Amino acid sequence: MNKMLDSAMTDRFRKMIEESESIVLTCHVRPDGDAIGSTLGMMHLLHSLGKRAVVVVPDMPPRTLNFLPGIRSITVYTKHEDYSRRLMEEADLIICCDFNKPSRQDHLGPVTQAAAAKKVLVDHHQFPDDFCDLSFSYPDMSSTCELMFRIICAMGFYPQLDLNSAICLTTGLITDTRNLSVNCKNPDIYEVLMKLLEKGVDKTRIVKEALMTQSLSSLRLQSYAISEKMEIFRDLHGAVTTLDMEELKRFGYERGDTEGLVNMPLNVRGIVFSFFLREDEDCVKVSARSIENFPVSKICEDLFGGGGHLMAAGAEFRGSLEECRRILVEALPAYRQYLPTRLEKIE
Ligand code: MN
Repeated sequence: MNKMLDSAMTDRFRKMIEESESIVLTCHVRPDGDAIGSTLGMMHLLHSLGKRAVVVVPDMPPRTLNFLPGIRSITVYTKHEDYSRRLMEEADLIICCDFNKPSRQDHLGPVTQAAAAKKVLVDHHQFPDDFCDLSFSYPDMSSTCELMFRIICAMGFYPQLDLNSAICLTTGLITDTRNLSVNCKNPDIYEVLMKLLEKGVDKTRIVKEALMTQSLSSLRLQSYAISEKMEIFRDLHGAVTTLDMEELKRFGYERGDTEGLVNMPLNVRGIVFSFFLREDEDCVKVSARSIENFPVSKICEDLFGGGGHLMAAGAEFRGSLEECRRILVEALPAYRQYLPTRLEKIE
């Protein structure tokens, strides 16, 4: 199952773990199920190996992940700056999960970079920066959690992996693949899942908690966005949805409330890509999803300096929401060449 991993690398990682006393796991800003699942999942494993291990994240995890074992032990940089710094400074190993460049950690990035600890990257985003001593970068993996699980097995630690760890790792695999509906072409992902479920994981509960639960205000906000604010570009087979601060306020917006909204237009036959632009305090958050290999990551990079995965990408735009929308809408026709040759009518 782990034929894609280089055994010299997993041996080195194992040695680094064995030689470390104090280990910090960290991830990207606005952490999602995969970021929190991979850091917490590895933390639990390290605990069962008798290691001191903590998770330090750039900002608050979403409430939908409150069910994860160990979530309350996480140190949040925006809430405890000094303590986070100290943990980073005192660590002798830092495991960087689910991000490909230091800037993805926002203000925590420079702190991680300045730490004297050895660093290991475990990630599945394209084109990682070279900022770690050892890098496991596998863009073909469904999720960092899948990759982490494979690394754990390759290091020979499957027997030590406990139920808590399995719950966390399954959560990342389930959220990044939207319950095995995207990003999971490789058939042996089911073998990974099977091995995790064999530890006693309740997958139904994970799907309900992490993917199918939202607040009433979030449901109302998303319904409003789709019914009133989604523009359909029929000739380009795309959708662009925007929400400004006034609208967010009107619906009592809380962080995470628009989670999943960008995917909804893709439910319509004939729509190949979807952009969602959300006005924030100091920038516009751009998120994009697509099907049929339409490269939204390229658009996010070309127009806004963002990136991500080919069909799931994002960016931050410094400027007004109107300007962001205008730049996007004006540029979109230039990407027509990437649309699939056989297109269905939008209806
Ligand atoms: Mn991920």
